[in-house]
Amino acid sequence: MGILDKFFSLFSYDIGIDLGTANTLVWVKGKGIVIREPSVVATHKKSKKVIAIGTEAKKMLGKTPPNILTIKPLRGGVIADFDATSSMIAYYIASIHEVGNILPVALSKPKVVIGIPSAVTEVQRRAVWEAALSAGAREAFLIEEPMAAAIGEGVSIFSSTGSMIVDIGGGTTEIAIISLGGIVVSKSLLSAGDEMDRAIAHYIRLRHGLMLGEKTAEDIKIRIGSAYEGKVKVKSQPVRQAQGEKSKVEETKDDTEKDKEDVKAKDENGLKERDRVAVVRGMDIETGLPKSLKITEVEVREALAPIISQIVDAISEVIEDAPPELTADILEHGILLTGGGSILPGLEHVIVERTHIPVIKSEDPLTSVVRGTGKVLEDESLLERVKVIGGLK
Ligand code: ADP
Ligand code: MG
Repeated sequence: MGILDKFFSLFSYDIGIDLGTANTLVWVKGKGIVIREPSVVATHKKSKKVIAIGTEAKKMLGKTPPNILTIKPLRGGVIADFDATSSMIAYYIASIHEVGNILPVALSKPKVVIGIPSAVTEVQRRAVWEAALSAGAREAFLIEEPMAAAIGEGVSIFSSTGSMIVDIGGGTTEIAIISLGGIVVSKSLLSAGDEMDRAIAHYIRLRHGLMLGEKTAEDIKIRIGSAYEGKVKVKSQPVRQAQGEKSKVEETKDDTEKDKEDVKAKDENGLKERDRVAVVRGMDIETGLPKSLKITEVEVREALAPIISQIVDAISEVIEDAPPELTADILEHGILLTGGGSILPGLEHVIVERTHIPVIKSEDPLTSVVRGTGKVLEDESLLERVKVIGGLK
């Protein structure tokens, strides 16, 4: 470390960023997670000027006048909008340094580790790396998200015993088998959380003639979505996060305006779990007027089934593509399931039933990747071994 770097590191917060397709999380060394925001940017159509980033921008989704664009910059696990991605990185690096730091970003140059979807191309990786540097990073390193997630979950990635990780995010599901510090086989598919939302909206439009927005469909999924109907034979781990998420939805529900689409679930005590219903509001296709409707958990499960199938098929394919020695390891040790989409109740049972491989669910699936970047920040030699790009400017 040069003398200048030493000087800068005295004042800077080194940070880890999970650049997810749905959510961006930021970890500050020594502090933990300090930012959790949706990966959404709102810009002026003509001037391209950024109006809002994160939660503020997500609130605008589907409601913007023609001169404003809301963008999910990482749509589909690739960088769909580079300028918006750079703005997001720059904004979060700057906002970390605004609070509690006496020096402006220009002087307090942080070391930045960014987890990126593994489908991001070489050219785009380089571009993200440059974006981080131009946002004021002293050094920027990129690591692949499946690797970061595995590290975050405490998997011993350098072991010769293979581990399989399935990260179901918003825009993509990333499946990877890791052994000896590298990704041996992997697959990235578009069947993930957003696709589940679209499947629900599609189903309700066809079956009930009701149009729903993206946000409403997501609320239904989170409130009453599930993947498995049968009796649960396999033992599964308690998922504390699922409960945490649920109460969060209930809290935020109140600030969605009353006259817009709105979801209210009734977990009436008398009803069995599988009979849960939600009242949804949308637009009647025939009349063009707002209409409410009761949707059952069974219907939502039916809507989600094709997406769940695609995910399980992809898991099976990756296992088939793996060298036999690794397959044996995974059969024995199981599949680690993470990402927000993995919170969907019963998903693990579908996977177990179809693959006959045990499944371990992350207890905090929305933060696996960012916790991984945090561990990498603390450990220079780990960083050297897992980075895909990065180093001194
Ligand atoms: P990414 O890494 O792509 O940013 P995340 O891991 O943050 O994605 O997961 C976001 C996805 O998880 C969204 O599609 C969201 O709807 C979904 N999700 C969040 N909570 C739940 C839940 N309780 N049940 C089902 N899906 C959920
Ligand atoms: Mg993710």
